[in-house]
Amino acid sequence: MSHVVEHWLDEKDKEALQHIEDVTSKADEIQRQILTEILSTNANVEYLQQHGLHGSTDASTFKKLIPLISYEQLTPYLALIAHDDDSPILCSNPITHFFTSSGTSGGETKLIPMYEEEFVRRLSFFNYMMPRMKQLFPNINWQKGKGMNFHFAKPEFKTKAGIIVRSIFTSLHKRSSNLKSKPIGNNTSPDDIILCTDSFQSLYCQLLCGLYQNDVVFRLGALFASTLIHVFKFLENHWVVLANDILTGSINPKITNLSVRESVMKIVVKPNPEVADLIEHECSKGSWEGIIKRLWPNTKYINAIVTGSMSQYIPLLNFYTNNLPIVSDHYGSSECFLGLNLDPLCDPYEISYTLIPTMAYFEFLPIDRTNPNGEVTQQLVDLVDVKLGQEYELVITTFAGLYRYRMGDIIRVTGFTKKAPNFSFVCRKNVVLSLNNEKTDEAGLHKAVEEGGHVLKPFGATIVDYTSYADSSTIPGHYVLYFELIFDEHNKAQISNSIPSSVYEDCCFAIEETLNSLYRLARSHEKCIDPLEIKIVKAGTFEKLMQLAINRGASITRYKTPRCLNSKQIHIIQLLESNLVSNYFSQKSPKLDANRALTFLP
Ligand code: AMP
Repeated sequence: MSHVVEHWLDEKDKEALQHIEDVTSKADEIQRQILTEILSTNANVEYLQQHGLHGSTDASTFKKLIPLISYEQLTPYLALIAHDDDSPILCSNPITHFFTSSGTSGGETKLIPMYEEEFVRRLSFFNYMMPRMKQLFPNINWQKGKGMNFHFAKPEFKTKAGIIVRSIFTSLHKRSSNLKSKPIGNNTSPDDIILCTDSFQSLYCQLLCGLYQNDVVFRLGALFASTLIHVFKFLENHWVVLANDILTGSINPKITNLSVRESVMKIVVKPNPEVADLIEHECSKGSWEGIIKRLWPNTKYINAIVTGSMSQYIPLLNFYTNNLPIVSDHYGSSECFLGLNLDPLCDPYEISYTLIPTMAYFEFLPIDRTNPNGEVTQQLVDLVDVKLGQEYELVITTFAGLYRYRMGDIIRVTGFTKKAPNFSFVCRKNVVLSLNNEKTDEAGLHKAVEEGGHVLKPFGATIVDYTSYADSSTIPGHYVLYFELIFDEHNKAQISNSIPSSVYEDCCFAIEETLNSLYRLARSHEKCIDPLEIKIVKAGTFEKLMQLAINRGASITRYKTPRCLNSKQIHIIQLLESNLVSNYFSQKSPKLDANRALTFLP
């Protein structure tokens, strides 16, 4: 970080930057303190007592007695908390919230325990993001300028014990609506609009407010890049009505939520023919290249996570924005905020995050992905003992009751900031398909394909082999499944297309109904994933696929059909496409079941 005196930063910004310097310099000391604090605060909790810790705060005793766990092992404890038990089970403070995480367990959303004070402590993480950007963009008027950040609330519900279940960003916006200084900075949309759970009304109004105030927008963002792409597509489809609202100073009658209408009217106070003309002029050109810069001319950068599966959207972001800098500023989760990108203007393909040692107690499980089981090679290590270039699964211990909890994220050490390591995000363990931060793992995909197979079976068709692909070349993207079928003896004479199309379409739908709840939410509620497609390939295609892999050096004994392909495996996709017989799309929207996460608890 720069040591030049930056007169345009205020005292709070300077303090925040200094804080980052301090905590990264003393990473080892801080990690020890954090563990001691977590264990002493929670000394009386049932979970730690059961494992024999009995108030000890010593790191080596903790590591000896407390097992490494995944979410599944926590579910009996979470069920007790969710149902009615208010005794200190996982943490001594009463749990006030469950955050819904996009990581899934058995296909369902995970519930992450949280309490009020810890949430407030976590919010401090946001104070560290903006000062770094202020340091890099001295010419932005940070007081008057606004971000156009697209955030969406998901429906929330309560457990039997009355604990609120909602996403962390919904909590953040609920809280920030009462705050003068917003944790995410000035935004073009009031919180009421963001908190509306009707995704059409919310997105429409967020765009309307952002367009109306186009001259003050200096950054445009969303949590994940996939959301921004969805927003840009929405703009392509709705600009005529949006421009008309701005021309007339009124709101589209499709916006029926009264508090949302009221909030919008506080921004869209009168007709603005100048902006309406600009929209008309730019959007009617038919080319969407660089549209962001043309409609929001003062935008200096784009703010969205583009690491992990989100990197597939970098070229599209560049297209829409004419290569504005993309800032992927943090790495976080419902379990814990984790890292900051301290070099936010770096190449988006080279992003690293510095783990902030005050956020949790971190341990690292070395992973060897070249080993066919992707298995662990050695013992866990502490934050300051990680090795450059090595990949690890992140393991966290938090104030809110997660002890030695495997996050399921694989990260690689890329360097160090003082004593704190920097990591690149490698992948989510076991996730094979992801378009909108939903996480479909191999087991979930397999279960869904089996359900699809049950639809085909009565028609004499069996799925012999399959693979999949998250196709993001269209907006919204969609899942594509390639199936090779065989037909029963009595149906042998038939060819696959003698089965009515409606059967294949029902098969697509059965697969969608079985996929995880976040897939279904993105598909049916947020409408940012298009209908699933199955592509039937000729008999023998998967044999050719194996041959192709062997010709390229794969071992025949260890060959496994790849259950998921990425856009780099173009040679495999070409082979599948050249053997295509027919394709079908799902014709119905899969059902949502917002609170299934709870029924999943034992
Ligand atoms: P959630 O619990 O729904 O907030 O999702 C958290 C997960 O999203 C993390 O565990 C990661 O798998 C993923 N994620 C969050 N931030 C990033 C990032 N900067 N880069 C890549 N993946 C991320």
